[in-house]
Amino acid sequence: MSEERHQNLAIIGHVDHGKSTLVGRLLYETGSVPEHVIEQHKEEAEEKGKGGFEFAYVMDNLAEERERGVTIDIAHQEFSTDEYDFTIVDCPGHRDFVKNMITGASQADNAVLVCAADDGVQPQTREHVFLARTLGIDELIIGINKMDLVDYEEGRYRETVDEVTELLKQVQFNPDDAKFIPISAFEGDNVAEDSENTPWYDGPNLLESLNDLPAPSPPTDADLRLPIQDVYTISGIGTVPVGRVETGTLNTGDNVSFQPSDVSGEVKTIEMHHEEVPKAEPGDNVGFNVRGIGKDDIRRGDVCGPADDPPSVAETFQAQIVVMQHPSVITAGYTPVFHAHTAQVACTIESIDKKIDPSTGETAEEEPDFIQSGDAAVVTVRPQKPLSIEPSSEIEELGSFAIRDMGQTIAAGKVLNVQEP
Ligand code: GDP
Repeated sequence: MSEERHQNLAIIGHVDHGKSTLVGRLLYETGSVPEHVIEQHKEEAEEKGKGGFEFAYVMDNLAEERERGVTIDIAHQEFSTDEYDFTIVDCPGHRDFVKNMITGASQADNAVLVCAADDGVQPQTREHVFLARTLGIDELIIGINKMDLVDYEEGRYRETVDEVTELLKQVQFNPDDAKFIPISAFEGDNVAEDSENTPWYDGPNLLESLNDLPAPSPPTDADLRLPIQDVYTISGIGTVPVGRVETGTLNTGDNVSFQPSDVSGEVKTIEMHHEEVPKAEPGDNVGFNVRGIGKDDIRRGDVCGPADDPPSVAETFQAQIVVMQHPSVITAGYTPVFHAHTAQVACTIESIDKKIDPSTGETAEEEPDFIQSGDAAVVTVRPQKPLSIEPSSEIEELGSFAIRDMGQTIAAGKVLNVQEP
């Protein structure tokens, strides 16, 4: 797959605003619903005397199957426009959504935010937009959905657009990098075809907007960074770490180092999509084999990089964070779990160095006693176990994290600098 043509796309938004329905609609309109699924539903429809193949019928069935607990795997579904092959990287409504968004495994280049016109901005709309912003989504397409429920009224559309624009400004997402479209995922308005129900809207439809997205630029120039997701033992080959190349290239014959496990060796083979390849580039999911490395020498959360310029390991690091939601206040000594690439490590916020005015980026208060929801701050962090992480100014892909506690994302941030042991 040529890199320029491929995009990872996240579909984000509050529960019940229509993410699954939109994914179904996109797959259906682009002819990407797997043939066996179409066949199955056609047969069922005919048996029940309903005849024909209706999108709504498929969605109803999928919804029913979901309720019955049958797994419909709509994670990693693919569809194409003239310009791009899109992979939908997150199964909407998936419990691990936030975690997936943070780990490199499913990092999206761009995202579609679904916001229902009859419900407006809701808590998960905020959470997802906030994460998208912090974790480096480049462009946001905002589908103001369920326009059919508000009689395709321009006024209601504008109000919802204003609400979302306000949210974008709060998280400092440039509204110029956002495109709004009035849609109905259920009825199909402005998804694949321009709708007659919205004569007051003359912008592109959703598929056109996806097609017009700028191509993601793969960061091949940077040093290799490959966070390890899993480590397998495969008979006849040996130890096979797997993961996604975030930056740089991995070549057979390279000497690589795994940090913080601190072992190194020569890359013997690289495998991608069950085929042996001589090299792997950013975005490639690979399994590879390294001479002399055993299964217990390395683990998930390690980062693979060049042996002569190994990934950084932090004794402490300084970071800029934004507190999204915390029931009380955060003070020095707080030790939640940090999720960075594929690593999850308990880290202590050792000091709160300064509070920042989120609208100007200027220091609002030196060494505050505490921070709370909505605050931005610079903090010094001490991982309780070795953690490989990079300053975001040097390697953006390895320089962001989310802070989770009590099953929620408390905050997210970027690494400013790393103090190595
Ligand atoms: P998700 O939780 O965001 O994935 O939302 P779903 O896709 O499961 O949709 C939630 C409910 O809203 C379902 O009953 C859908 O049929 C309905 N829905 C989704 N999109 C539309 C729409 O454009 N118009 C109408 N009227 N209902 C919709």
